[in-house]
This record gives sequence, C-alpha cells and structure tokens, in this order.
Amino acid sequence: MGDEEIALVAETIRSGWITQGPRVAEFEKAFAARTGSAHAVAVCNCTAALHISLLAAGVRPGDEVIVTPHSFIATSNAILYCGALPVFVDIDPATLNMSPGLVSGAITPKTRAVLAVHQVGRPCDLAALSGICREEGLALVEDAACAIGSTYKGKPIGDNTHSPLVCFSFHPRKVMSTGDGGMITTNDEGLAAKLRLLRQHGMSVNDLQRHASKTVVSEAYPILGFNYRLTDVQAAIGLGQLGRLDGIVERRRAIAARYDSALVGVPGIGIFTEPPDSRWNHQTYLIRLLGSTAATRDSFMQRLLGEGVASRRGIMSIHREPCYVERFGIQSFPESESASDQCVCLPLYSQMADADIDRVCQLVRIHAAAATPSPRKSP
Ligand SMILES: *Cc1c(COP(=O)(O)O)cnc(C)c1O
Repeated sequence: MGDEEIALVAETIRSGWITQGPRVAEFEKAFAARTGSAHAVAVCNCTAALHISLLAAGVRPGDEVIVTPHSFIATSNAILYCGALPVFVDIDPATLNMSPGLVSGAITPKTRAVLAVHQVGRPCDLAALSGICREEGLALVEDAACAIGSTYKGKPIGDNTHSPLVCFSFHPRKVMSTGDGGMITTNDEGLAAKLRLLRQHGMSVNDLQRHASKTVVSEAYPILGFNYRLTDVQAAIGLGQLGRLDGIVERRRAIAARYDSALVGVPGIGIFTEPPDSRWNHQTYLIRLLGSTAATRDSFMQRLLGEGVASRRGIMSIHREPCYVERFGIQSFPESESASDQCVCLPLYSQMADADIDRVCQLVRIHAAAATPSPRKSP
C-alpha cells in the first residue's frame, strides 16, 4: 500500500460516508469487472463470505458439505456455522488441492454442496468438480480466499464459469488487502440479492437506498441476517489495491520463478509448479522437505530463523485441530497430514529483492540437507 491508498482513505473520511455506501458499491463494481462476473457483494471477511454463500446455496442444518481438510480452518468452520457437517476428502499431493476422484465416494443422500479451495491461489480442478456437482445436483462454492489474480483455462478465478458463488479474502496475508475484507462474485441476480440481505441483518432496504429516496421508506427484516458489512474506508483501500493488482501478481510470479529455477532438482526438496491450464498468483511459495517429519521441518525452520530468515509451516490439516477432534474424533487423511508436516512457506513479498531470494535459496539448500533423510547418513 502507498500514497494512493492513503489519499483514497482520506477522501472517503472527508466524504462523510464511512460504511457500506458509495465506495463499497464502487469497489464491488470494479471487482466484478476485474473478475468478469455479473455481481460482486462485499463483506467484512472471507469467512463471512463463505458462511452466507453456503446459506445462499441452500445448506441447512444436518446437511453434508464435501471439503478438503487441507486448508485454513475458516474453510470448514463456515460449514459448521450453517449447522452442517464437513465431510473431508483427501488432497492430491501434487497439487495440494482436493482430489476430484475422491469426491463421488463421499456423496450421500445428505450431501448438499462441495466447497472447493484454490489452496495458496493455485486453481483446483474446477472442470472435474463442477462436472460432478452438475451430475449429482450439488451446489459448488469456491473458497478463492487466496486466488484473486489467478486464472483457470484462460479465465479469471471468480468469473463464475464453474460455480455461481466464489469467495475472496482481503486479509493482509492475501495478494491484495483492505486490512480485513471479503467479496463474493456471482452471476445470479437472485443469489446476489440474497447475499445482500444476509450481510446486513436481513434488512430489506439498505442505508444507501433510504438516503437516496425522495419519500419516507421503512425497512423490514424478512429473514435472519448478520452484520457482515465492509466499510467505505476499507473499500477505498480496495480500490487502490485493485489498481495495483496486475503489478503485484507480476512481481510475485517473478519471485516464484526465481525460487523455482534455484530449487528445482535440489535433492530432498519438492517444489510446486504452475498447472499447465492455469496462471497462478503465487499467494504463497511452498517447498516440500521430502521425507521429513514435523520435528525435522521445525528444526529446518529454526535454522533458517537463526540466519535471519522467517518461514512458516505449510497448510494445516483441519481434522487434527483439537476443536475438530473433540467433535468428530480422530480422522485420518494421510496425504493432507504428510503435506502439512513436510511443507514450508518461504518469504515472498512484492518488495523482496533478487539478492534476498538468492540468499534464501542458498540457506534452504544448506539446511534442507540436514532436515531430509539422506542415504549418506545410514546408521
Ligand atoms: C485466509 C483464508 C480464509 C479466511 O479469510 P478471512 O478473510 O481471514 O476470513 C478462508 N479460506 C482460506 C483458504 C484462506 O486462506
């Protein structure tokens, strides 16, 4: 963020309208245009976006929703907020995304929807998943929290080609940010109207409409809604960020390409390449320490930290977290678990200099040798 976002925020505060008003409407219009969708509905974060998207898709208490456990916990928490049951299916270790081949076997008469994640912004197999959902009469909702700026078969994630509800996050950990914030794109006018009701207390007439009316209008509350509004101050930041998005994605892709070329073929290290039919925004740069355990992964990260390089563990396995074990008992998804234990996120930010990338690669090569089992060190 820079002077442009600061100026847009100042202008918004001076305008006198600071929550869900004209700036939010402008941000929604710009976001819909950017993703090639008919409608965009802004909300306070992606977790809220997932919650009301699942509700709008018809998910009710007692329903089942198929999802991967290899994601941030908010993905499946949103299913629990609806009173529904997350039915986990394992990932394809090559992509870290839900394995479409496992979905059919998880469908029961109670299945209402599939929640598909584009993990770390890497598009999942939407063609296969939407095919299954069409055939089985299930709703498909996309968790595109990390995927703004990515494309799938030449079209932007969020254009609603494969599903009518695509959810984005603007948390600072994502590619563009509004501090906190979220957006849902939909090509269905009825769904857009439902989402707008759900995000603001189920209120039939919003503030902007009341303010613009020449006659006195009163609102009604036909359904139980939530307060999931985005503020105009946040939307102003979003407009600035949207203007920078192409540049941000370009730089992230260039950094990832430099990492790739330095780390490809290094013994003990696996990298994740771009799918041939997709353009990946590289929200995160992950490596896999082949054959490592969570403990050796942690000591690898500790060694990097000792050299002044911060890294993070890979994507979590939701089913292993205590609040899930308590509800559902011990479940086992081996591909998700070993990917969680072996993957590490390396530093990646727009301002990162090439010399810093090269230094990280050098340290990764040195310390990965100690973290991964080596034939040279037999007992
Ligand atoms: C970040 C993230 C979320 C949650 O987004 P918030 O805006 O923080 O609510 C959900 N799903 C995935 C896959 C994420 O990475």
